[in-house]
Amino acid sequence: MTRVGTTTKGRFGRYGGQYVPETLMGALRELEAAYEERREDPQFRGELEYLWREYAGRPSRLYRADRLSEVVGCRVYLKREDLNHTGAHKINNCLGQGLLARYMGKRRMIAETGAGQHGVATATVAALFGMQAVIYMGEEDIRRQELNCFRMKLLGAEVAPVTSGSRTLKDAINEAIRDWMENVADTFYLFGTAAGPHPYPTIVRDFQSVIGREAREQCLEKEGRLPTHLFACVGGGSNAIGLFHPFLEDEEVELHGVEAGGLGLSTGKHAAPLNAGSFGILHGAAQYMMQDADGQVAETHSVSAGLDYPGVGPEHCLLLDIKRAVYHAVTDEETLDAFCRLSELEGIIPALESAHAVAQVLKMAGSFQRNDLVIINLSGRGDKDVAEAQRLLAEMGRRKLEAGSCGNGAEGGPDHGNA
Ligand SMILES: *Cc1c(COP(=O)(O)O)cnc(C)c1O
Repeated sequence: MTRVGTTTKGRFGRYGGQYVPETLMGALRELEAAYEERREDPQFRGELEYLWREYAGRPSRLYRADRLSEVVGCRVYLKREDLNHTGAHKINNCLGQGLLARYMGKRRMIAETGAGQHGVATATVAALFGMQAVIYMGEEDIRRQELNCFRMKLLGAEVAPVTSGSRTLKDAINEAIRDWMENVADTFYLFGTAAGPHPYPTIVRDFQSVIGREAREQCLEKEGRLPTHLFACVGGGSNAIGLFHPFLEDEEVELHGVEAGGLGLSTGKHAAPLNAGSFGILHGAAQYMMQDADGQVAETHSVSAGLDYPGVGPEHCLLLDIKRAVYHAVTDEETLDAFCRLSELEGIIPALESAHAVAQVLKMAGSFQRNDLVIINLSGRGDKDVAEAQRLLAEMGRRKLEAGSCGNGAEGGPDHGNA
């Protein structure tokens, strides 16, 4: 994308900004002004809270996972974003931006999607508000995510196949930006994660911060104190920053993000820009990203399509640099293990994305103090992933899906796993 201009607004240290063509600056300014006008507006807030509660099912539960706690060696809670309508945290942001679009008088919504989760959440909100929706999706992803593609159509959205580049998420974002440049007057670009040009990282973070605000309150109520550790998976970074943000000032609370380590950081086949990326500009913002020596966006790989993004939101980049948060990477294999283990231990099948956060906690099992208090953000449910998990587990050959063989929850000690 052409680098035309930047502002000092929307900066997180040297990250963020608005590296976009001139034609988009007007749209971004309009969005920022509308958001500034509404963010504290009692009527807007009231409507959003009504929708979060009555439509999405908030507040999501903070569930004490006793069998998992036993394995980990301290008390572990799960923030149950998987219980939201449409099965993940994405609906929090989509309801917020959708409502903003309605206040702005826009009739048409566009969005990008990789795995299809954000596309489904956007199509859902477009149906709810009676708006037209066009969802950009790479051809490769359409093939991989046929069911989500059908869901979007069922919800009345148009799925626009993207045939450029690697025909995946990053190309879909480029196409959506192109559409927005042509149709700024009547179109709202509903961005799915806490990345992209200012003001998106701020808007998405604010809407997702409902996760952390609730978790903070629920933890104080249940335990009479703050958690000691928070864990969340990091794709673009929206569920993680949503959980982290209300705790940023509580310096005693450790923040742990978990990126997609794919086949291992040393293989280059991963989606872990905070662990193994470098400074660059992607989709309108400065950030850590995966790129080759020429600055071309590198191919990414992850077992979970929702984490398969070569960039990451600017606020996480800053939190890494100032060491307020720690960012780990877990492999596909460790993730599949955690996917099975949480299912067996708690009767909760997590999204493969969320299983990354669970995997990191399992890796650290035994290293916590007895009275530590861990919260894992369960960003989504695993229904969408069971067929893929079945295929991968069979392929790996070392696990069969007969009873108990997916790792025996009752007997697994802290060091069970993938040493
Ligand atoms: C999309 C998605 C993610 C990754 O997106 P973030 O913006 O990093 O939160 C994580 N978990 C689930 C269930 C998702 O659908």
